[in-house]
Amino acid sequence: MQMIGRRSAASRPQILVALAALGVAALGVPLRTNAQGDPQGAPARHGINPAYFDTTCAACNQFYQYANGTWLKTVTIPPDYAEWGAFDVIYEHSLVALRAALDSLPRSNPQPGTPEWKVVHFYASCMDSTRAESDGSAPIKPELSRIDSITGAPGLLAEIARLHRMGVGPVFFFFTAPDAKHSNDEIANLGQGGLGLPDRDYYFRADSVAERTRHVYVAHIARTLVLTGVPAATAGREAQRIMALETALAKASMTIVEQRDPKAVYHKMTAAQLATLTPGWSWTAYFRDYGRPDIATINVRQPKFFTAFAHLLRTTPIADWKSYLRWQYAAAAAPFLSSAFLTENFNMSSVLDGTTEIRPRWKRCLSQTDQQLGEALGKVYVAREFSPEAKAKALTLVQNLEAVLHDDLSTLAWMSEATRKQAQAKLDAFVNKIAYPDHWRDYTALTVEDGAFWNNVNAASEFEAHRQLMKIGGPTDRTEWPMTPPTVNAQYNPFLNDITFPAGILQPPFFDPEADDASNYGAIGSIIGHEMTHGFDDEGRQFDAQGNLRDWWTPADASEYNKRAAIVVDQYNHDLVIDTLHLNGQQTLGENIADIGGLRLAYAAMERALQGHPHALIDGFTPEQRFFLAYAQEWSEADRPAYARTLVQIDVHSSSRWRVETPISNMPEFAQAFHCQATATLVRPDSARAQIW
Ligand SMILES: [Zn+2]
Repeated sequence: MQMIGRRSAASRPQILVALAALGVAALGVPLRTNAQGDPQGAPARHGINPAYFDTTCAACNQFYQYANGTWLKTVTIPPDYAEWGAFDVIYEHSLVALRAALDSLPRSNPQPGTPEWKVVHFYASCMDSTRAESDGSAPIKPELSRIDSITGAPGLLAEIARLHRMGVGPVFFFFTAPDAKHSNDEIANLGQGGLGLPDRDYYFRADSVAERTRHVYVAHIARTLVLTGVPAATAGREAQRIMALETALAKASMTIVEQRDPKAVYHKMTAAQLATLTPGWSWTAYFRDYGRPDIATINVRQPKFFTAFAHLLRTTPIADWKSYLRWQYAAAAAPFLSSAFLTENFNMSSVLDGTTEIRPRWKRCLSQTDQQLGEALGKVYVAREFSPEAKAKALTLVQNLEAVLHDDLSTLAWMSEATRKQAQAKLDAFVNKIAYPDHWRDYTALTVEDGAFWNNVNAASEFEAHRQLMKIGGPTDRTEWPMTPPTVNAQYNPFLNDITFPAGILQPPFFDPEADDASNYGAIGSIIGHEMTHGFDDEGRQFDAQGNLRDWWTPADASEYNKRAAIVVDQYNHDLVIDTLHLNGQQTLGENIADIGGLRLAYAAMERALQGHPHALIDGFTPEQRFFLAYAQEWSEADRPAYARTLVQIDVHSSSRWRVETPISNMPEFAQAFHCQATATLVRPDSARAQIW
C-alpha cells in the first residue's frame, strides 16, 4: 500500500516493514508509535507562514531553504520526536482533539459493553502506571511458562500460531489480503518476518554505524531476557544465539527493492504445494491452531524464505527457538509493561531514531486506543471535529484533481490509444474514501477488562486477528477503511484501486476551506495528486481498474514508461541525505513518481480553479508562487541525524528536502513563477526533465 508517510524505527519494526511490503502506499508520514512533545504552536491557518522564509537565499537555487530556512534554523525537535515538521504539528493538534473527544465520554457509562465504554476503559487501563509498576513482568509470565514448557517441533509450531494470533510476529506473517490477480477474493498470505532490527540489510552492512547498531542490539536482547527472568550469566549467550537465528532469517529475506515488484511476491499455491516447500513444518497444524483448518490456497510472498525457515527448523536446537520466542514475545510486550521494560525498549529505539525522551503516557495511550479501537474513538472524534460540509468540500477538491488527470491522460503524447483507454478506465474506476467511513466497525466481540493493559492489548489483537481470519475465502470488502479517521496520512491501495484521505490530514494548514486556492492546491492538492498518481506509478500501473495484477500496456508504451522512470531513478540517486548516504532511486521510485506527478496535477487543477478570477497578490506573492511555497512548507521537517540515517535505508519515501526540490526542478512552471535563470540549480533543461504524468 502506498502512504504519504514514513515508517518509524520504533518498537515493532517488523510489523511496520510487513505493511510496507504489502505494496499499499501511504504518504510517508512518520508513524507515531513512540512520540510526544510540545506542539510549538497550533497549526497555522491559510497554508503559508512567512515567518518560516529565509529570503537571503535564492529561491531558484535552494527553494526548500527559501521557504523554510528561518524555521529550520530556530526549530527545536521535541525530545520524544525523531523529526519535527508540519505533519507532527497537526498530529499533536489531533492528539489534543482526541483527548477532548475521550474526555467527553461519561466515565461511568451505565451500559458496560458499549463501544464508548470500551474506549474509556481501554484507555484507563493503559494510563494505570501504578498497576503497571506493581505488576512488573507478571502479565507476561503465563505465556513465558508456556514457551518454557515446549519440548519439540509440534509445541513450537503451536506456540508460533498462538503468538501470531496475539499480534506478536515471530519468524513470519500470516495475513489476509485480496488475491492480486483476482482482487474480489480474499486469500491467505504468508510473508517473511521475524526480525527485530528494521530491515534485513541491518544484519549485513559492514560500516561502523551498522556494526555498532548490531552490538547494541545484542546487548539489548540480553537485558530484555534478564528482565523476563533469564539469569544474567546465560542471557548474553542466549542473545548471541538469537542474533544468529535472526541473521539466518534475514539472509533468506528479500530486500525492500526486490519486494517492490508485485510479480516477485505473487506465488499462489495449494496447501499441498506449500507443504512440499517446507519439509518438517505442518501447515495443516498451523492453520488448525490459528483457527482456519479449511485453508486450501495461499499466496507465499517469498517461497525461498519459507524453505530456509524449514531448514532452520530442522537444524537449530529447540533451546534456541525457545530463547527466540521468549525474546520476540517480551519485545512485543515491553512498551505496555513497567518502566523497566519500557525504558529498555526505548533505549534501543532511540539508537535508531535519536529521540531522548519517552513520549508522555497520555499520548502513547491515546495512540494505542486509536490503533486498537480506532473506529469507536474515531466516531466520537469526527462528530466533534469534522463537518459533513468540510467532507463535501474535500470531495470537490478530489474530483477537480481527477478531472485534470483525465484530461492529462487524453492528451499525453507518449501513450498509444490502446493503453490510454485502459488508463482512463482505471481512473474512472477510482473509489474515493474521504474523512471517515459510512459504516463504523462493530466491536461487540471485543472484551475490555479493568486489569493489566497488556491483557487488553492481547484481547484487541486477537479480536483483529479473528476479524481478518474470517475474511479468508470470502469476497473483498471494498468499503472497509484502511486508516482511522484521526490519521494524519493518506493512501492508495492498488488491490482496491481506491484512495483514502482521513479527516486527520484534511486540516489546516494542509486543507483550509477558508484559505486561498493556491495554498490549498499546493498543500492538500499535491497530496491528493500524489495518491492518485500512485495508481500509475511503477507498481500501481501493473494493476488494472479492478485492482488485478494484469499487464494492460502495449510493449512500446511499457518501454517508454520504463525509459522515463529510469530518469527519475537517476535524479534521486544523486540526492544526498546525510554524511555520504544518498537516496536509493529504486527504493523510492514509486513515491517519487507520485510526488512529481501529484505536484503537476495539483498545479494544473489550481490554474483551472483560478481561470476567470483575478490573480491577486497575497503578502506580495502570486498564486503560482504561493502554490510552491505551500508545498514546500507542507514538507517542512527537521530530522535527527540517527533518524535520517535509518530512513534512507528503510523508507520508500525520499527525504523532505528532496520531496520538494526534485519535483519542482522538473517543472518549468516553477522556474516561470520565480523568474529563474536557465542556469539556476533548480532548473533542469528540457532534455533532462523527468515527466511521466
Ligand atoms: Zn505515496
